[in-house]
Amino acid sequence: IFSQVLLAPADPILGLTDTFKADPRQDKVNLGVGIYKDEAGQTPVLTSVKKAEAILLEQEKTKNYLGIEGVQAYNHVVQTLLFGEGSALITSGRAATAQAPGGTGALRIAAEFLLRNTDSHTIWVSNPTWANHQNIFETAGLAVKEYGYYKAEAHDIDFDTMMTDLSHANAGDVVLLHGCCHNPTGIDLTLAQWERVAQLCADKKLVPLFDFAYQGFGAGIEEDAAGLRLVASKVPELLVANSFSKNFGLYNERIGAVTVVAEDADAAVRAFSQVKRTIRANYSNPPAHGALIVSTILNDAGLKAMWVQEVKEMRERIAEMRTLFVDSLKAEGVTQDFSFISRQNGMFSFSGLNKAQVARLKDEFGVYIVGSGRISVAGMTKTNMPVICKAIAQVL
Ligand code: PMP
Repeated sequence: IFSQVLLAPADPILGLTDTFKADPRQDKVNLGVGIYKDEAGQTPVLTSVKKAEAILLEQEKTKNYLGIEGVQAYNHVVQTLLFGEGSALITSGRAATAQAPGGTGALRIAAEFLLRNTDSHTIWVSNPTWANHQNIFETAGLAVKEYGYYKAEAHDIDFDTMMTDLSHANAGDVVLLHGCCHNPTGIDLTLAQWERVAQLCADKKLVPLFDFAYQGFGAGIEEDAAGLRLVASKVPELLVANSFSKNFGLYNERIGAVTVVAEDADAAVRAFSQVKRTIRANYSNPPAHGALIVSTILNDAGLKAMWVQEVKEMRERIAEMRTLFVDSLKAEGVTQDFSFISRQNGMFSFSGLNKAQVARLKDEFGVYIVGSGRISVAGMTKTNMPVICKAIAQVL
């Protein structure tokens, strides 16, 4: 039976990392996958995380199963990060959060919950969006439609098309929104644009699903939640899938959460019971370590301050690399305007490089970026910048 199975295509992002690893060139650079690198090109464990792990090693008394929803103290701090200290959404009981294995796991649980318990079976995602979105939603059984988001010539948002496309959505359709640091374009909505999206969702009874994987990598931990909080103040129902892979550097701990916001506390209890049922059918209950790290840090004023500082350093280093990239390209004699890169947010930018140029970067220069032209700015350092910019100057 298995001999009939066809070979799956390589994953567009993780498959690139496999090729990168097999590349023998010394000065190769991986700007494909979204992993934060420090100035030394490393992805070290955050100091706040190491300290929390030391506490856990000392104090952990059991490896007993968690409940289906995970660590309760963790779920509580997630809500505070999302909606703000003392938010009425939290105190009213309208929000219910379950720990999930990464942002990916949270998106999958959200999708399956919608499919099995509601009439919301269509989800609108931005064009372009993170390469795994369509895969996750279609595999879960949702129909995926696209709304325009990006004007390639202007390297800017195409907000009019976004609004026009979403005006064709039906009541009950789900709209996937990137909370901040849009992946892959690095272009976020302004507050005025969030306001209009919120109004459209409210008027047309669309259900926002926030993918919030980069809180703290845009303007700041609280600042980056502004769009989510604004939309949450205008619509009766929404979902959030958040991830701590990037902002806590907990990539391989697989830690995120799915949050349902319902019209009232009673509806939230019922919705949450079905979220738990979905989790039970998928992996029964989540692993503990990542959640215990995050809740230990966020419930300790000293560790939290340390984490806030570490996120700030990551955010500022990425911003510095954006400026250096633009300046270095100029210094290499590139006349094309790349200044848009320094106006964008988060780990990624859409370079505008075409498939042939991307292929030459890899084959001739050992510089790996995703076929779409998406560059992980977070993988740039002062050391690899000359290699990157010389190569780009050549392929242009
Ligand atoms: N959403 C977006 C937009 C992402 O970029 C990522 C990670 N690349 C995720 C979700 C998934 O994160 P995780 O690794 O926590 O599953």
